[in-house]
Amino acid sequence: MDLTEGYKEMLKKRLTPKRYTHTIGVAQTAAKLAGMYKVNVTKAHTAGLLHDYAKDMSNEELLDLAIENELMTDDLDVIMPQILHGAVGAFLLEREGIVDDPDILAAIRYHTTGHPDMNDLAKIIYIADYIEPGRDFKGVEKMRKVAYRSLEYGMLSGLDHTLMHLIHSAAYVHPLSIATRNRLIEQLNIKHCN
Ligand code: FE
Ligand code: FE
Repeated sequence: MDLTEGYKEMLKKRLTPKRYTHTIGVAQTAAKLAGMYKVNVTKAHTAGLLHDYAKDMSNEELLDLAIENELMTDDLDVIMPQILHGAVGAFLLEREGIVDDPDILAAIRYHTTGHPDMNDLAKIIYIADYIEPGRDFKGVEKMRKVAYRSLEYGMLSGLDHTLMHLIHSAAYVHPLSIATRNRLIEQLNIKHCN
């Protein structure tokens, strides 16, 4: 059995059928984006497959693991434990010896909040999570078009979608997401000035 098939078998046992289908969509979309943006396609596919490794764990499990292993990045993580499924997923995949590639681990770790230092692989996973074929929300078609034109604008479009949603729902915004957006704007300004 090749590595990918092994991952799939493992995920089938961990995730709900709906989430499993989502991860297949993210892996395929990430591989496609990676091909376009000259990022390692195998890494993108693997990171896509494994990005929601901890998603179907309970809030209590996520919090316990995060506290025990110092995975929190902000006090808000306690109020919104679901945000921890990125960091906990990366932690478990490394501890269980399933993944040792630091790029894949970082992409998984930061797919929930974003991070100002995200590399292209991490950006690809972040965007693929929004635009995989199973996603159907107002504006998804436009987001797909943007993502296939520019990695940074695609990322910005996904981030803004989340921020708008949080603002309209009078919800907290994670500081890492704000920092990520500010860094993206900086990167886009630099690109435009050259
Ligand atoms: Fe996720
Ligand atoms: Fe996801």
